[in-house]
Amino acid sequence: MTKSFRLGRGTIDALLGVDLTVEKGAFVSLIGPSGCGKSTLLRMIADLETPTTGEVLVNGLHPSAMRAKSRIGIAFQDPALLPWRTVLDNIRLPFEVAGLEPNEEIVRALVKLVGLDDFQRARPAQLSGGMRQRVAIARSLVLEPDVLLLDEPFGALDALTRLSMRALLLDLWRRHGFGVLLVTHDVDEAIELADRVLVLENGRVAHSITIESPRPTSSERTAQHDEYRADLLDKLGVRL
Ligand code: ADP
Ligand code: MG
Repeated sequence: MTKSFRLGRGTIDALLGVDLTVEKGAFVSLIGPSGCGKSTLLRMIADLETPTTGEVLVNGLHPSAMRAKSRIGIAFQDPALLPWRTVLDNIRLPFEVAGLEPNEEIVRALVKLVGLDDFQRARPAQLSGGMRQRVAIARSLVLEPDVLLLDEPFGALDALTRLSMRALLLDLWRRHGFGVLLVTHDVDEAIELADRVLVLENGRVAHSITIESPRPTSSERTAQHDEYRADLLDKLGVRL
């Protein structure tokens, strides 16, 4: 599959040839230098862009069919909440967009899971950055998607909040069994969360690394983690 963008008189090849199959329910991280095509790949899976050649299938379906059935959840770096709506109403929004009656049980359960029980009626301006991102993640899960697409969702958060967001994401993934494709700049985040780390380079998947280590229960560093880290940094061309 390839993707080119027209830019002025020329074209930019964002993805030069990606041939990739991801197992159902897997947690996959996508890492690579800025401009290598990570967001473009995610946006094609989300049906926000169409491939120039080739095709994308999600659970055997075209992304537009998945989107029509609300089977894909999305959260990006900017939580993009509606400022005039409360936390609860922001999380309910996907039901309205899909023309469905909100399932209040799921809405409440998610508010609780992301730790915002006491802030149900708060508006985004009254929340911290981490809390807003938790609202965005709850919102992305409220229709119980099969696939969750995350584009640097914790990029704007401070280091401590990132750690708790990672733990939250792993917890949600274990409970709900959806597949995750996480774009991140953070090598440690990729290793700690994913079953598989893909290194994207100039529009191609240059490396795929299977992470065998059992996930640590805390953010403790293991020798295995350090080995993966060294390997990934090497593949990313970072010389220490
Ligand atoms: P990444 O997310 O890895 O930083 P992107 O997928 O955003 O990279 O971009 C990959 C390449 O495609 C970049 O060269 C970028 O400038 C280009 N690109 C992305 N979206 C568009 C667009 N809508 N129009 C023109 N060029 C784009
Ligand atoms: Mg990007």
